[in-house]
Amino acid sequence: MRPRSRTNPSHSSDSKERPVRNLVLVLGDQLNEGSAAWEGFDKERDVAWMAEVKGEATRVWSHKSRVAIFLAAMRHFRRSLEKRGIRVEYRCLEDPSNRGGFIPELVRTVQRLKPERLIMVEPGEWQIREGFREAAADLGVGLEIRNDTHFLCSHEEFAEHARGRKQLRMEYFYREMRRRTGVLMDGDQPEGGKWNYDAENRSGPEPEAIGKLRPPRRFPPGADTREVLAQVEEFFGGHPGSLEHFDWPVTREQAEQALQDFVQNRLPSFGRYQDAMWTGEPYLYHSRLAAAMNLKLLDPRRAIEAAEDAYRSGQAPLNAAEGFIRQILGWREYVRGVYWRYMPDYLEQNVLDARLPLPDFYWTGETDLNCLHQAIGQTLQYGYSHHIQRLMVTGLFALLLGVHPKAVHEWYLAVYVDAVEWVELPNTLGMSQFADGGIMASKPYAASGRYIERMSNYCKDCRYHPGRAIGDDACPFTTLYWDFLARHADTLSSNGRMSLQLRNLKRKGTDELREIRAKAAELQERLAPSS
Ligand code: FAD
Ligand code: SF4
Repeated sequence: MRPRSRTNPSHSSDSKERPVRNLVLVLGDQLNEGSAAWEGFDKERDVAWMAEVKGEATRVWSHKSRVAIFLAAMRHFRRSLEKRGIRVEYRCLEDPSNRGGFIPELVRTVQRLKPERLIMVEPGEWQIREGFREAAADLGVGLEIRNDTHFLCSHEEFAEHARGRKQLRMEYFYREMRRRTGVLMDGDQPEGGKWNYDAENRSGPEPEAIGKLRPPRRFPPGADTREVLAQVEEFFGGHPGSLEHFDWPVTREQAEQALQDFVQNRLPSFGRYQDAMWTGEPYLYHSRLAAAMNLKLLDPRRAIEAAEDAYRSGQAPLNAAEGFIRQILGWREYVRGVYWRYMPDYLEQNVLDARLPLPDFYWTGETDLNCLHQAIGQTLQYGYSHHIQRLMVTGLFALLLGVHPKAVHEWYLAVYVDAVEWVELPNTLGMSQFADGGIMASKPYAASGRYIERMSNYCKDCRYHPGRAIGDDACPFTTLYWDFLARHADTLSSNGRMSLQLRNLKRKGTDELREIRAKAAELQERLAPSS
């Protein structure tokens, strides 16, 4: 039976039609009442437009939690706009006349309201921005796309940073951002004398630290969110993932509470255990804030400020505060810069000529490779895995196997609650798959099972042995690692940062390497049959 809707299913909060000056378009990842879209907004003459459309959930086969977090946050945002007296043209998912896509929905609204102008903040996806531009041109109505001031670095500033550089590197960008914002600075020098404390942020898991973990604050779904969960089950029941554990922040207030909980309870150890992985502990010392930030419920300046305050008041050590701030002020801004600078061609990059399909177990977690079973299982349960699980387990395996970067991209865009293309694509295609030939990362993140053994407790419960490349119990990561190096030795030989790994490859005897390569071919055929 279709659940009865608590939200007002009619499309407008004001049934009386009146001439509309500006129609302000608000997408699901633009839930920011302080965004540039609202500058000059006049409640008497302007109207907000929001649409829940099935196409956004099915374009990639989205995890149920990813669909749910967008819808729940949008509905809460609509309410808060209406409370402020803003008229919202809102199309609910369950509305039988819902046309299923942004553009058909927009066309209908524009034809009915005949606004003088459309206004929006730049969308987080190139294709969507183009779609709106084309639609506005077809409709003969002006579209003003405003800068997204949620970010600390504008497109112009990123272009200025990139000007004249042969190669972009996050570290130099990050230093510039520190200088420009004054964050963690001591005069014109970095706080503590070093820009980066990454070397102190690579501890493997330590059982005593795991024992002291405090679970992150949960946000059990309220009535509105429960309604969304029921609708997601109804409309997207066949999609991957579970809603059983859905507890994400979906309002601005909850996002702030999640930040405070992180800063008090997990930030102090964030730096040290940033790269560690542990069975049954999906979040460890991570913040879980990416989704709230990407939906724009949380301002990155607020997260940076809270971490810096914790350091300055002695609540968190410098390596933790710096490590966290680097992710937001550095990586997050940097990947956005890369995305907009290189799209749309970026999406087609495949310098390693990887062609295989994604193994089916990425959608089920059913595999006897324990690290993948854990990381994918957790992803399906929560819509979350942390950076090292994404980069050095699921991403690494796809890289070593030779999966087509677009297939890998579609998986990452589908399965995480924080997935939005501007941030997902450079991380996946660039950082984890090296398909961009080194724009995002100076070398491929290629490693054997030994890395996973060092950084997790996964290997001790696995039927494979991380140190073995051949034999019945050879770890598939290790087999594929040597095969990957051999396969790409020519391409990678000009990269100085790969020389140690390539020298180690040369030490392998011919027979051993032949055996490894035959085993790798067998694995590729079994796990990712090309036809
Ligand atoms: P924490 O570990 O607590 O980090 C703090 C914050 O820093 C995050 O919330 C995030 O906003 C930011 N951050 C950290 N690393 C990065 C990074 N590499 N790029 C951009 N921001 C970063 N992040 C997304 O927000 N959306 C994605 O779709 C996404 N896809 C990814 C795909 C791959 C293959 C990889 C390797 C990384 C991806 N990341 C993505 C980056 C990172 O893994 C997530 O931001 C992080 O795991 C989210 O969990 P958290 O909020 O607990 O982060
Ligand atoms: Fe993963 Fe290999 Fe370790 Fe098994 S042995 S958990 S497959 S790295």
